[in-house]
Amino acid sequence: MTERLAGARRAVVKIGSALLVESQDGRIRRSWLHALADDVAGLRERGCEVLIVTSGAIAVGRRLLGLKGDGLRLEESQAAAASGQIHLAHAYREALARHEIGVAQVLLTLDDTEDRRRYLNALNTLNTLLRMGVVPVVNENDTVATGEIRFGDNDRLAARVAMMASADALVLLSDIDGLYDRDPRTAPGAVMIPEVRAITPEIEAMAGRPRPGDSSGGMRTKLIAARIATQAGCHMAIADGRIDRPLRALLDGAPCTWFVARDSPTTARKRWIAGALKPAGAVAVDAGARAALENGRSLLPAGVTGIEGRFERGDAVVVKGPDGREIGRGLVAYSCADARSIAGHKSGEIETLLGYRGREELIHRDDLVMP
Ligand code: GLU
Repeated sequence: MTERLAGARRAVVKIGSALLVESQDGRIRRSWLHALADDVAGLRERGCEVLIVTSGAIAVGRRLLGLKGDGLRLEESQAAAASGQIHLAHAYREALARHEIGVAQVLLTLDDTEDRRRYLNALNTLNTLLRMGVVPVVNENDTVATGEIRFGDNDRLAARVAMMASADALVLLSDIDGLYDRDPRTAPGAVMIPEVRAITPEIEAMAGRPRPGDSSGGMRTKLIAARIATQAGCHMAIADGRIDRPLRALLDGAPCTWFVARDSPTTARKRWIAGALKPAGAVAVDAGARAALENGRSLLPAGVTGIEGRFERGDAVVVKGPDGREIGRGLVAYSCADARSIAGHKSGEIETLLGYRGREELIHRDDLVMP
């Protein structure tokens, strides 16, 4: 089962507040974080791109602002998050700089992952950062996200990020080493489940109810995260993060629970493109481009003979062959106006024609479905 992480090309690692921040004084546990950075460097050396989703802004910020007591008012936790996030980001920068790995802060809200245009913008940013070899360090944008527009827990946020980035593994580092058939804190004979292939009502019952004192996540949000991730083709692990170098331990076969994905990320993403979207327009291609697409290549502007309908960058469009029949569907990288300007031209001319340097492809092969 370790190959789910060992074989991953893109992994999201979620780090909970309880691991990163001392509960008594709100300090960041730097030696743990530095060891984790060693693990991240190790994964990257194996050819795996890494994204981090981190909690801890509120836990750090409340100490900095001197906010005491159990419950914080909404505006207090938002202020705490705003204050703590700077320190959190800095701690990651410092930890990964020891390996000469760059970091970038990405703050997302629920809306950013639900609204398709914002989703695609965020996705493009993440992909660009990863291409540049930088580790995105993601948290919820707590200062603007409130109430029902809020994730509230980073388990689900991490699953959305994994889905967005087409990651093939998501590891939720937690203060428990996996999913148990009963609550191990109250049932001494509880047994850990090493592998979950379907999230059945029995599995859901194992998660139980969050107990007072649990951090915002608990097992229930982890199961929701597992559902999101596995449906998007990403395997997900709940693993013990309380030890130093928890990712290496996982690679070495430490016990954990793996939730197994049904499809590979590409097929899940392509199913989403093929099925769930209403095409906003169409792109007609010549015979040469059709042959290239049938061989699994991207659609370049040079092979485009016509543009129909009104669409924006990121919309779903139909691809039509020379005889006008649908041959595929994809997400287009340019608006209809820009697509008209570059249709029939070489990719090298895009910058001159549009005044900006967009993608070389009108539809990238990862965003294209040919039935
Ligand atoms: N976004 C919150 C923070 O950074 C954490 C949410 C969670 O506990 O998962 O403090």
